[in-house]
Amino acid sequence: MPRLKPHWLILIALVLGVLAGWVTQTAFGGDIDAVKESKTLALYDLLGSKIFIGLLKMIIVPLIFSSIVTGIAGLHKVEGFARLGGKTLAYYIGSSAVAIVIGLTVVNVIQPGLVDGKPNPVVEKFIADNRDDFEAKGNEIAASANKVEDEKSKLGAVGDLIVRMIPTNVLAAASDNGAMLGLIVISLLTAFGLNAIDGYGREALVTAIGGLNDLMITVTRWIMKLAPIGVFGLMASIIAQTGPGFLLSMLKYMLTVLIALGLHFFVALPLALALIGRVNPLRHYRAMRDALLTSFTTASSSATLPISMRCLQDNAGVSKRTSSFVLPLGATVNMDGTALYECVAVLFIAQVLGASLDVATQVTVVVLALLTSVGVAGVPSASLVAIVIIVNNVAAQQPWGAAAPAAIGAIFAVDRILDMCRTSVNIFSDSCGAVLVAKSEGEAVLQE
Ligand code: ASP
Repeated sequence: MPRLKPHWLILIALVLGVLAGWVTQTAFGGDIDAVKESKTLALYDLLGSKIFIGLLKMIIVPLIFSSIVTGIAGLHKVEGFARLGGKTLAYYIGSSAVAIVIGLTVVNVIQPGLVDGKPNPVVEKFIADNRDDFEAKGNEIAASANKVEDEKSKLGAVGDLIVRMIPTNVLAAASDNGAMLGLIVISLLTAFGLNAIDGYGREALVTAIGGLNDLMITVTRWIMKLAPIGVFGLMASIIAQTGPGFLLSMLKYMLTVLIALGLHFFVALPLALALIGRVNPLRHYRAMRDALLTSFTTASSSATLPISMRCLQDNAGVSKRTSSFVLPLGATVNMDGTALYECVAVLFIAQVLGASLDVATQVTVVVLALLTSVGVAGVPSASLVAIVIIVNNVAAQQPWGAAAPAAIGAIFAVDRILDMCRTSVNIFSDSCGAVLVAKSEGEAVLQE
């Protein structure tokens, strides 16, 4: 029998996972609570979130550290680094801004929260039927959002960013997957520091960290072999716990999000690749397919990072130097899909709760979506917290602000599938950024 390529295996696993999830839910007579208590679900979770995602998370810290250090220190010079940083930053801001404008336009055209100018009765009924559950969930998310707000510096978003960039304890930052930005700064400092010292110490460290990087690449390849099993477990678990009634009530909202994400993923980003980078976008989709399937099933940019790094270097031909700078930073701060989603979600909540947002308020939502998407962690459902922060900002002291927790709970009920899609957009945008930066640096990318 001919051996199937990894992406086919992952795709087959994805379909089998959906079937297994559906069979499981049917076997329990559609009783989601019973499914949640079952051993079958525990088994799916073991295969997916515990083993597969667990292994990916395990290698994130040594992988990021060693690839940034070898990517930059290996070059013996830092020239052009500021240029690389400038281009990367310009791409992050530009692509997120385009994504948000797409989201804003689509949500204003489709108006998923309204029917004939009035709050959508299907969604209103859905919220009313589950009010207690949704309010409890919404309040829970709001509590973590308040914690985030309390920790904020008085200097606003820029102050926060700086604080997050400077870890006060190297080991603590390295042991916290959420403190990725700090880890990136430590790695950059190490790389620059190694470039500034001479002699045996420098050589020994560069060689050792290079060895660590090779090791991590090998381990990533091994973990990728487990991807089909992990993807099966993740899909089976999600489908087994998702009630069809939920999806139907929120259909218009979900379609709005999917259309907006689709426009960014299938139109805006490939256009940028073709027009600015002069590369064939289809080749890039093909190069990134394993990473895209992984981000879709894991809904976590961080967990997908090792795989996108492999795809970008092995298949797209982006250098270690560019990919190890643009990707880890992008997975942490550049989230186009998330920024777009925040914007659509906040406007949907306002529509459903009968609040009409004027242009000035919508502009505030856009700016806040851009800023908060930088702070969202690359883990499932992380943007819900940012949505609460935006709602708190624009709806403070307004009647619809008080009703918002229930609506946020309703959004959470259907979040997973949308999260899978926006995470894929996040990952794909980072990889497009890396290709564009690499191309502008004269690298031969996507040549085949
Ligand atoms: N799950 C997303 C990611 O990891 C973040 C989010 O939008 O919730 O990129």
